[in-house]
Amino acid sequence: MSCIFCKIINGDIPANKIYEDDKVLAFYDINPKAKKHGLLIPKVHRESLNDISDSDSDIIAYMMIKIKDIAEMMGIKESGYRVVSNCGEDGGQEVDHIHFHILGGEKL
Ligand code: AMP
Ligand code: ZN
Repeated sequence: MSCIFCKIINGDIPANKIYEDDKVLAFYDINPKAKKHGLLIPKVHRESLNDISDSDSDIIAYMMIKIKDIAEMMGIKESGYRVVSNCGEDGGQEVDHIHFHILGGEKL
């Protein structure tokens, strides 16, 4: 059975999408930890930062480059934002599909 973020990618469960292309999807977090809280995920399933290798360089670089565009779509590019990726149990990772939190819309 695929993970919850793969289900969002596949359209099996809905999401409030910010941006989508053939490689990545960004959508608003269902339980926001800041006034503006987006999540950026690759369409390829990788569990976490622990699960990426040299062959994932292109997609990881692509995500880093896309963050500012997604922040702009969220209306927080100029005001500033924080990017976080939780990894593993002590990191507080709840969903085992690598994702970058994009948090802003207020002073963090
Ligand atoms: P993490 O704790 O880093 O694994 O973050 C997982 C994030 O996914 C949490 O902030 C959740 O609120 C969020 N989340 C879980 N399910 C959904 C969903 N169906 N749609 C949007 N965000 C979700
Ligand atoms: Zn997945």
